[in-house]
Amino acid sequence: MSSDSGLPDRQKAKTFFQYGNDATLKSNLDYAIDMFKQACKLAPDNLSYRQALRGAQRRKFNNDPSKVGRLVGARNQPIRMRARSARSKGKYAHVLEICEDAFTHNPWDVAAAREASEAAEQLGFLLLAEWYVESVQAQAKDADFFRHAAHVHERNEHWHKAIASWEQVKLLTVAVDRLKRWYRRGLLCIGDAAHAMSPVGGVGINLAVQDAVAAANILAAPLYAGMVGEADLARVQERRAFPTRMIQGGQVFIQKRVISGVLGNKTELTPPLPVRLMQAFPILRRIPARIIGLGVRPEHIQTPERAAPLS
Ligand SMILES: Cc1cc2nc3c(=O)[nH]c(=O)nc-3n(C[C@H](O)[C@H](O)[C@H](O)COP(=O)(O)OP(=O)(O)OC[C@H]3O[C@@H](n4cnc5c(N)ncnc54)[C@H](O)[C@@H]3O)c2cc1C
Repeated sequence: MSSDSGLPDRQKAKTFFQYGNDATLKSNLDYAIDMFKQACKLAPDNLSYRQALRGAQRRKFNNDPSKVGRLVGARNQPIRMRARSARSKGKYAHVLEICEDAFTHNPWDVAAAREASEAAEQLGFLLLAEWYVESVQAQAKDADFFRHAAHVHERNEHWHKAIASWEQVKLLTVAVDRLKRWYRRGLLCIGDAAHAMSPVGGVGINLAVQDAVAAANILAAPLYAGMVGEADLARVQERRAFPTRMIQGGQVFIQKRVISGVLGNKTELTPPLPVRLMQAFPILRRIPARIIGLGVRPEHIQTPERAAPLS
């Protein structure tokens, strides 16, 4: 390769690319990756070089993202931090090089692709910026990624792709989960902060308000005395954990047994037994009405009316 030293960068890049292709044909992937990286460094805007590099990196994992080790996130974290630091200094071409180190460990690294895409956009390489997002969009999950993808497609005037990306942004992820521990010194989580609720049954607000009432009942006196300890905060969780488990369990049950069944079924459906029983015995309808309206463990305000302490 010493014979290339006098050639301009583009010509050198082409030579490196050729070496990379030859090595790929011989399945010498490490060497191919090295050569393609050199080519990309000398001609950062060249899409073919970048695609060849990613192809070789992915072949090392048999083109299968599941073959990437689980600890790769921790391994790539410092690399992404270096990329962010280079970005903050405006060294966008360097960002692209750093991100390639992350892609060597994980050629489907969504965060690195997003970082590289932003850098490519800053450099005015709009098609490259678009390719970065497209190369990992099957792995991408968060709305922020698709918002950026839509922006890049718009800059390339690829309107259909932009609309498809905006479609992903408007999708809302609904979760039903809860914290193991709702509190720590100086902090108490209640409502969705402690236990995310789905729309099923329209009970999340009720549960959140009842958490707040329980918290007020339990914490008013210690707060007034200026002495709230972890044990006080723990009492709020102890009181509200049971209704939360019950209501969330009900939401998951309805989602799995009723809603998913209805949405996934094309034939005529028979209502589940509890619904048929309620149809036959209207008095039974009071049970779900009571659970939805009052909750599993209704809370009532027990704190006395008193003036706020003087500061
Ligand atoms: C699609 C959907 C539909 C739903 N429909 C219903 C329904 O019909 N009926 C029902 O009862 N429940 C419904 N739920 C559940 C319900 O929305 C939640 O359980 C409920 O809103 C929880 O109330 P919260 O006060 O704990 O949290 P939230 O309502 O999420 O309130 C938290 C507030 O804090 C604000 N905030 C966040 N971070 C900060 C910050 N750093 N600084 C200042 N403010 C901040 C947020 O902007 C927000 O206003 C639905 C849930 C979903 C996902």
